Amino acid sequence: MAASGTKTIIVIGAGIAGVCCALALREDGHDVLMVDQNGPGEGCSSGNAGQFNVGSSLPISMPGMLFQVPRWLMDPTGPLAVRWHYLPKALPWLIRWIRAGLRDRVPGYAVTLRALHANCIDLYRQWLGTEGTADLLRFAGHLYVWESTERSALDLLSEALREANGIRSVVLDSAAIRDIEPALAPIFQRGLYFPDNGHTVNPQRLVQTLAEHYVAAGGVLQRRTVTGFDCGPEGVRAVLTDAERLPCDIAVLAAGAWSRGLAAKLGTNLPLETERGYHAMLPSPEIQLRVPVSNAERTFVLTPMELGMRLAGTVEIGGLTAPPDYARARILITQAARMVPGLNSHGAALWMGFRPSFPDSLPVIDRAKGVPNAYLAFGHGHTGISGAPMTGRLIADMISGRPPTIDTSPFRASRFHSHGN
Ligand SMILES: Cc1cc2nc3c(=O)[nH]c(=O)nc-3n(C[C@H](O)[C@H](O)[C@H](O)COP(=O)(O)OP(=O)(O)OC[C@H]3O[C@@H](n4cnc5c(N)ncnc54)[C@H](O)[C@@H]3O)c2cc1C
Repeated sequence: MAASGTKTIIVIGAGIAGVCCALALREDGHDVLMVDQNGPGEGCSSGNAGQFNVGSSLPISMPGMLFQVPRWLMDPTGPLAVRWHYLPKALPWLIRWIRAGLRDRVPGYAVTLRALHANCIDLYRQWLGTEGTADLLRFAGHLYVWESTERSALDLLSEALREANGIRSVVLDSAAIRDIEPALAPIFQRGLYFPDNGHTVNPQRLVQTLAEHYVAAGGVLQRRTVTGFDCGPEGVRAVLTDAERLPCDIAVLAAGAWSRGLAAKLGTNLPLETERGYHAMLPSPEIQLRVPVSNAERTFVLTPMELGMRLAGTVEIGGLTAPPDYARARILITQAARMVPGLNSHGAALWMGFRPSFPDSLPVIDRAKGVPNAYLAFGHGHTGISGAPMTGRLIADMISGRPPTIDTSPFRASRFHSHGN
């Protein structure tokens, strides 16, 4: 048993969410054991676009998107695909997703995401120190580009929401776009530059480095597959694994897209779905980008990384077990070649990962209902790299009984059991 005031805490999952929780809890002096079926950062946290979305904190479901969905689905090169056999299972989630995009809901989600993401770069800096920051983080901003000259109603709403949330951006014409990123083909008419965004040059190494800091600070990391919980009237007594029973005072569930089944074993049923995403990693792109670039119409990102250029994006609704469809990643190569003349895609490595997504784009950061010593920290969807540091802080605040750093009420699990969410 831990010394007075400190607890024995098991964090389940060593993706970016779990590692940030484990670090923050260890900083509070708790005895922390982090368990993962794989090594740190080998899940969704390894293959993302690496963007710290300080300046683009909008939910994914937005007003009017419903009308774009049929067009996206009909276009085999479009940003959204559904595995049709999986549709009946995903349908309730999709209906909630559409409702989340209603005009009266979106401003609240934008405020909440902004609060969750705003300090992420500062928190990473604190954990990584000067050397780790210089090694892993870049502060070049983030460029969004459009081929069309016309601003849609969605563009106008997005701009208004960003402005309302104090997010800085610079409007660019085609000449200004090329000043910021000369490697782009002269096909883009409009751009927005977010000076406060940053990125990591290697998302997996970011997680691994944070996990090393956690271990150096006395945290313990074990490779185990969690199978369930031993619960009594007072809550979780132990976490059950493929190897042994691990007694604890507190359990924190941060198992990304796999959290739904484990949360159900704690008695909490949540509408967590996976939005499968893809990347193509170009090891010798020949062209260097100065800044990460998002193709706003095709909704994917080109990020300069230490192992080459990563093209990342697309959403595929197909569950956790269907095999990858790497044609989705190859589409990104074709589209990026149009954007960046001379891009060399030889030797591209293709990847698929499971975004853990709630319909309203917000994670659940909460205590499990009816199990007072179990906490939930998952569902970061498209922006887990940006939302994980504050998530770790909030979980540590909750466990230590401190007032939370930001308002945690929008992250409650109970939001899905009321208001038609
Ligand atoms: C293509 C793509 C691009 C993206 N780009 C960005 C971006 O630019 N910026 C951004 O902020 N976010 C981005 N994201 C989202 C981000 O990657 C995710 O939100 C984030 O990685 C989720 O982290 P996680 O720790 O919750 O999940 P994961 O990283 O998946 O970690 C969950 C961990 O739990 C473990 N686990 C699961 N079940 C068990 C079990 N039973 N026992 C033990 N361990 C278990 C898994 O092995 C895994 O390591 C992107 C995602 C994709 C797919």
